[in-house]
Amino acid sequence: MSGRLLIIGGGLAGLAAATALAPRGWRITLVEARSQLGGRASSFTDPNSGQAVDLCQHVSMGCCTNFTHFCEQVGIAHLLERVTTLYFMTADGRVSQWRADGLPAPWHLIRSFLRAHFLSRSDKLSIGWALAALERFSPQSDPPFMEWLEEQGQQRTSINCFWNVILVSALNEGIEQIGLKYARKVFVEGLMKHREGGVVYLPKVPLSELYGKEMQAWLKDHHIDLRLDCPARQLLIENAVIHGVQLRGGETLEADLYLAAVPFYRLLDLLPSEVVQQYPVFTRMQLLKTSPITSVHMWFDRPITTYPHLVLLEGISQWLFHRPSGVAGEHYYQVVISAARDLRGWGGERILAAVLEGLQARLPIPAEAKLLRSRVITEPHATFSVEPGVDRWRPDQRSPIAGLYLAGDWTATGWPATMEGAVRSGYLAAEAIMQSEGMRVRFLQPDLA
Ligand SMILES: Cc1cc2nc3c(=O)[nH]c(=O)nc-3n(C[C@H](O)[C@H](O)[C@H](O)COP(=O)(O)OP(=O)(O)OC[C@H]3O[C@@H](n4cnc5c(N)ncnc54)[C@H](O)[C@@H]3O)c2cc1C
Repeated sequence: MSGRLLIIGGGLAGLAAATALAPRGWRITLVEARSQLGGRASSFTDPNSGQAVDLCQHVSMGCCTNFTHFCEQVGIAHLLERVTTLYFMTADGRVSQWRADGLPAPWHLIRSFLRAHFLSRSDKLSIGWALAALERFSPQSDPPFMEWLEEQGQQRTSINCFWNVILVSALNEGIEQIGLKYARKVFVEGLMKHREGGVVYLPKVPLSELYGKEMQAWLKDHHIDLRLDCPARQLLIENAVIHGVQLRGGETLEADLYLAAVPFYRLLDLLPSEVVQQYPVFTRMQLLKTSPITSVHMWFDRPITTYPHLVLLEGISQWLFHRPSGVAGEHYYQVVISAARDLRGWGGERILAAVLEGLQARLPIPAEAKLLRSRVITEPHATFSVEPGVDRWRPDQRSPIAGLYLAGDWTATGWPATMEGAVRSGYLAAEAIMQSEGMRVRFLQPDLA
């Protein structure tokens, strides 16, 4: 008989571990500080309409096999929309379409690539050589990617209009800061290895609904004691053994095993400071850096484009999404600015003005179109930064404290900070927990084959 497990954190990492372990007989309590599940992948309520609006649009891809498995297991996969064509728009308003065609991998995107209007023939040739070299490069080496691109003779246009465009969205980090390991993962394992790898999946509903009622019903059906609005204050640790979790409300919860599935900077607050100082695993975590994302939400009185989304080249933003508004007569658009460090100190009005100026320059927005309202949201610690060698700071899901396991997109998953990375961490933690009972179970899903 499996024991009692206390999970702290109801983001995708904690939820994935719960969905893996509950069917194996673990009696699970999950405490979540906020009033909803989903963590960073969640929504706020728009006070004007009462509608749930995502803090930031989340995108998944075909290569995210663990996230897909998680959604299927919980029964929420039907809430995802498969998007096979992407529209890349330059500042002059010209658009190129990207979609996989009938050719086998790695050639399935070659026709779109060759037709891309924003790359010259010589850019395409040199990018092609560099992609082939990237594929041959050791997947574990992690030198600065920019230096490597320069060694491969990549010119400014191909760096700006190809490498950076894809990487800044996928990794939420500027190309100057990225290590080669995760850049390689995006291009080779994400886009080139399998024709389904680069297919985009968008939630059809707000994230609070994606990880909402159906998710909670699944947890209930599997006898998981879910406690929302229930923040943990401290992990109670003595002699390298965890024996309880004190909640902010004063109560102490005890279990046989504990899984901390909170962001690394929250875990550092929950651990007693002497424990952080004592174990290199925890002191190293302090060296992880974070990167911000800004999302600009705009409600217009009419459509401003007929495209369902746009990948925006040459400007401060990377994506424009046209999403359902839920209010008659309103058209809702969201612009995403990844690795938004340069906007620090700008303030919402200046960011909105810059975004609108960029959109007006490239879209035929009718002069009479009225911006009804807007909101600018910056998540300062959106993801950890995939700087060169970052994996040396990321801990395994087994901690040095007996009884305490770790999960979160920032733990050692071999993936960048994504919903896929978070689910992987939860499955890996669940495997480690099963192993503590002497059982070898594989929850991690295979890559696309
Ligand atoms: C703006 C933005 C855009 C993004 N876009 C994408 C995207 O397009 N595609 C993609 O794949 N990924 C994207 N990500 C990344 C993705 O959201 C994260 O990688 C993933 O959701 C992390 O899940 P997690 O469970 O590891 O952590 P979190 O989601 O942070 O979950 C941790 C949970 O722990 C809870 N918690 C914290 N402290 C306590 C406490 N003391 N007691 C109890 N509970 C606590 C938190 O409330 C939270 O619910 C984006 C992230 C952001 C911020």
